[in-house]
Amino acid sequence: MRSNDQCGNVNPMSDFIADIHCDLLCYLAYDSKRTPHDSAVRCSIPQLQKGGVKLQVLAIYTSTSPQSVVEGQEQVKRFHMLLDEHSDIFTTYGGDHNKITIIPSIENASSVFSEEENLDEGFKRIIDIEQNTSKVAYLSMTWNEANRFGGGAHTKRGITDEGKVLLHFLNERRIPIDLSHTSDKLAYDILNEIDKHSLSLPVIASHSNARSVYEAARNLPDELLSEVISRKGLIGLNFVNHFLGDSIHLHVAHILSLGGYHSLAFGADFFYGMDVPPEHQKDPETLFSPGYRDASVYPRILNEWKTQLQLDEKIINNIAWNNVNRFLEAEVYGSITAASK
Ligand SMILES: [Zn+2]
Repeated sequence: MRSNDQCGNVNPMSDFIADIHCDLLCYLAYDSKRTPHDSAVRCSIPQLQKGGVKLQVLAIYTSTSPQSVVEGQEQVKRFHMLLDEHSDIFTTYGGDHNKITIIPSIENASSVFSEEENLDEGFKRIIDIEQNTSKVAYLSMTWNEANRFGGGAHTKRGITDEGKVLLHFLNERRIPIDLSHTSDKLAYDILNEIDKHSLSLPVIASHSNARSVYEAARNLPDELLSEVISRKGLIGLNFVNHFLGDSIHLHVAHILSLGGYHSLAFGADFFYGMDVPPEHQKDPETLFSPGYRDASVYPRILNEWKTQLQLDEKIINNIAWNNVNRFLEAEVYGSITAASK
């Protein structure tokens, strides 16, 4: 990992971008004819390179269905294929810092747990990913619907007993919990369980904006954003039109006003619109505004923040790169080093 001491100085005006959420794996697993060079996915290799992306978290995303685990495993294979077939482009955390570091995350625990089997089967799959692929950046219990662990963003359900068991497993393995697809009830239940048992589990919102700026179930109310901030977690700014509303600047200013200088990051959520269940599909052309349409746009956005928001370069560098790297080093990878000593 390229860090300040290795390159000799502090990242000058955000040459590097870190983004903590995109759906490239799901796009590739959907059809074997697809390649990571296809611009339709919005986070293709050329687009990532043009945008200066040097670290990208790749979600293993499925909805909850009888096929979820099979689909999830297909996406784990695609992660390996990216490393094997594009070893000149991609590396894992701690690898060649001239390449793009890729890290898997689990968006919906149903990607690794079927609804009926013994939980141990799913735990084994997570351990297997961490031992044979890469440490997992974070896990989200649900997608938009409910599953055996709790209620997703489009429900009002809270956590189940199995959700609590999963939370304690994540705590033992130091896999951060993601609130981006929880119902509000599930989010509060997760925080209460963490506090009740004094767990040191990191909490993030990988790809959500501020609900008080733009009303959407997938955006977080101020109270939850403040919880993530006070727990030193990450909040990934989502570029999708129906979470962004009129202006990304309003979300940035608002989350900073809540104290999110060390939490704000990019979680742009680039995906190809037709890979989600039919009831969630939207015309790909309307999903993202022209200025936010693919991974090449980050440098222009940072420049806007500098000139129009008059944001300090230090804050811009934090959002673009430092916050994510600080979090991963301290909460995800640092803990492995410490545990193995
Ligand atoms: Zn999502």
